[in-house]
Amino acid sequence: MLMRIGGKDVEGIDECWIEVKNPATGELVDRVPDGTNEDVSCAVDAAEAAFGAWAKKSMRERGMILFHAARIVRDQHKDLARLLTIEQGKPIYESIDEVRGFANILEFYAGISAHSSGEAIRLGPAGDCMVVREPLGVCGAIIPWNMPVLIMGWKVGPALLAGNTLVLKPASTTPLTTLKLAGILDSAGLLPGILNIVTGSGKSVGEAIVTHPAIRKLSFTGDCTTGNKIRELASGHLKDLTLELGGSDPMIVMDDADIDRAVEGAVRGRFYNAGQTCTAVKRLYVHEKISTRFIKKLKDRIDALTVGNGLGSKIDIGPMNSAGQREKISQMVEETRENKEGTILTGGYTLKGTAYERGYFYRPTLVSTISLDSRLVTSEIFGPVLPVMTVPDLDTAILEANNTRYGLGASVWTKDLATTKRVFDEVKAGIIWVNRHLTVPPEVPFGGMNESGIGRENGQHALDSYSRTKTLFLGW
Ligand code: NAD
Repeated sequence: MLMRIGGKDVEGIDECWIEVKNPATGELVDRVPDGTNEDVSCAVDAAEAAFGAWAKKSMRERGMILFHAARIVRDQHKDLARLLTIEQGKPIYESIDEVRGFANILEFYAGISAHSSGEAIRLGPAGDCMVVREPLGVCGAIIPWNMPVLIMGWKVGPALLAGNTLVLKPASTTPLTTLKLAGILDSAGLLPGILNIVTGSGKSVGEAIVTHPAIRKLSFTGDCTTGNKIRELASGHLKDLTLELGGSDPMIVMDDADIDRAVEGAVRGRFYNAGQTCTAVKRLYVHEKISTRFIKKLKDRIDALTVGNGLGSKIDIGPMNSAGQREKISQMVEETRENKEGTILTGGYTLKGTAYERGYFYRPTLVSTISLDSRLVTSEIFGPVLPVMTVPDLDTAILEANNTRYGLGASVWTKDLATTKRVFDEVKAGIIWVNRHLTVPPEVPFGGMNESGIGRENGQHALDSYSRTKTLFLGW
């Protein structure tokens, strides 16, 4: 497939290519241009040229185009989901969820368009104010490979509704569904240049977007180290920044929890998307009164999970997205095994020697009695490995939960309101779930504390971040 710049499919100036492979088989799926600095400049020029006309439309008109695009996405959801599974690896039912999630986001922003353009403030004898919402201009968006469709929606929905134009870079391993969706948005009525997709590496295309002086705001989702580098690179340019970075979400299961429900929550919370989700359950703390029973049930449930090609039926977990990601996870588990930092209760191996050996599969893994300085506890585990720790009480659980540089999400499983309140007040994270983990609908603001990032996506908050107010003060 080709890049999409100024409403056209474009080969790119350098004529170099990136191969996109199916992570379940290692086979070539397609290729996309390996874009350059010059391609980013062309995309920014197209976005600048399109800005005036797009910004002049009413917010409701822009919302109607998003709504129309959502309808087309829903009509084509099966083909889009299939493509997503082929390039990303996730099971087809997860891809369908994600594609529908994209449509939900566009519909949410279309839905708030009629009443989000501004407000009137009456000041009595002093006068009246009309406060309008204005777009920022050309915005940049850089997205990762783990949820490429959903995260594209988180950026495209509010940015376009606010009247901005966009230059977006997908990850090198998952550009295909993004390009298809951009074509759909264009066909729904975007003028050429409103949404531009430049494919290529982080070093060339990513950094060119971050440092381009005409880009007024940048929204980045990805790894903390990359986020910090982007913050430095962008610092000379007075850009607005949203950084959605990594997480190491704790899940706390108290002794009054519904055990079966919490086991299901841990399985879905950790192993959805082969564990490659920013808000996945990455550390599990279970009260000692129920831990033996809980861990036994959890292990049995994990043993029953089916691993295989995401296009197959009855597959719970697909491959990891790349050989490199699987290698990172595999090394962390081997290190734990070698240093005797924990007990591997199940999993802890690839599918070498099976029919799936050419794919990047890793068997879902549960590790218990783990030392608190193991990398499985201190770092973000971006794969299907779950460390479980037993805790004597809520105080210890909260202390351990906060013993991290991250602060994206957290959950507590309990029936007790006082426990809920303590976790909500004391655990440092942007979202606290109770008897649930992972779900983030479009109306709910989402983002982290500490090293998990800056700013919020979703909801009215994201629309605010892609716009600024301008006030007309009428002193009658
Ligand atoms: P990554 O940082 O390696 O890459 C993300 C994107 O940034 C890719 O498009 C990549 O090409 C680009 N990039 C890489 N180097 C760059 C540079 N120097 N300048 C500009 N762009 C650059 O992250 P990843 O491995 O693709 O994603 C996984 C990470 O993303 C995990 O840490 C995960 O927790 C995080 N994540 C966070 C959220 C959130 O909302 N907080 C959501 C999903 C994923």
